[in-house]
Amino acid sequence: MKTQAAFLPAPQQRLVVDELTLDPPADGEVLVRLAASGVCHSDYHLISGTTKHPMPAVLGHEGAGVVEAVGTGVRHVRVGDHVVLNWAPACGICFYCQRDKPNLCETFTGPIWAGVMLNGTPRLHRNGQPVYHYCGLATFAQYAVVPQESCIPVRRDAPLKVAALVGCAVATGVGATLYSSPVRPGDSVVVVGCGGVGLNILQGAALCGAQTIIAIDSSPAKMELARQFGATHTLLAGDQTLATIRDLTGGRGADHVFEAIGIPSVQEASLDYARPGGTLALVGLAPMGSATNFPSAIITRQEKVVKGSYYGTVNSPRDFPMLLDLYAAGKLKLDELISKEYTLDQVNEAFDAMLTGNVARGVIVF
Ligand SMILES: [Zn+2]
Ligand SMILES: [Zn+2]
Repeated sequence: MKTQAAFLPAPQQRLVVDELTLDPPADGEVLVRLAASGVCHSDYHLISGTTKHPMPAVLGHEGAGVVEAVGTGVRHVRVGDHVVLNWAPACGICFYCQRDKPNLCETFTGPIWAGVMLNGTPRLHRNGQPVYHYCGLATFAQYAVVPQESCIPVRRDAPLKVAALVGCAVATGVGATLYSSPVRPGDSVVVVGCGGVGLNILQGAALCGAQTIIAIDSSPAKMELARQFGATHTLLAGDQTLATIRDLTGGRGADHVFEAIGIPSVQEASLDYARPGGTLALVGLAPMGSATNFPSAIITRQEKVVKGSYYGTVNSPRDFPMLLDLYAAGKLKLDELISKEYTLDQVNEAFDAMLTGNVARGVIVF
């Protein structure tokens, strides 16, 4: 079949929207008609070239849609199911899946980074040449063929454009507060960076009952947004950041610090915001090959914890439906995350807006 899709010819170029050929789903694969796809910084890492990936590639990994057809051997979903797509599909039987770490499942890692399906081949083509699938999803397209493990069925009354956000920003942000560095009632929390993920960390911290929630961003436009998502205090990044955080946390620093940008120098500064015995969770994805220089003497003497948080440590089949239940119950703000809707033809415009740093989430609606 044919599908309109936005593909990246090579790093440092603009996305090109064109008609591509999409093969039918093979064994264990599902054809999904996309309803919406969020625009995330991780996609931009391919455009800038900081994430290496086979090219050309259709980007997009934060999508939701409706199952149109299934290949042989598909048991997880049926035609007509509403699904949120999971960019870290889990097999259920590998070393990590058996240890309750499905977000680290090792079965799909190889094919996903090769931009292909599990059997080692892509389903997308252009002029007879292969086009690769980012995260095994490639959601910047009207239709996508994905592994069945990437399809998480969800309630049909959830609008698909907000359900799409659950597939990356919401799971990553809220999950970080529920599972990666669990926030308890009365805790103090600092969130560094108030983009799509940071705003979800803020509302996750509020959901968990945090008492003091301090949001830091370099954009004045984000301050009001951060309050809307649960920040009790907002700080423009600057010289007084550390002193103000200490003032607000009894002079000690916060119980939990979440860095949601992925800049090594900001990650290093964020360690100071945590109290002795507190945790710094690195949620934002730093460029591959970059490095931090943390003061190990401080980490040892003050028993600070620095830990990674990948995909919010979520179990997607369990947590995506739960996050949409919380939305339906009015306990998570998802509509408010969407700063602007775009058509697929406007995909480059959506990235330009994201790079201004003044918006929550742009969403491509099909
Ligand atoms: Zn993402
Ligand atoms: Zn696994």
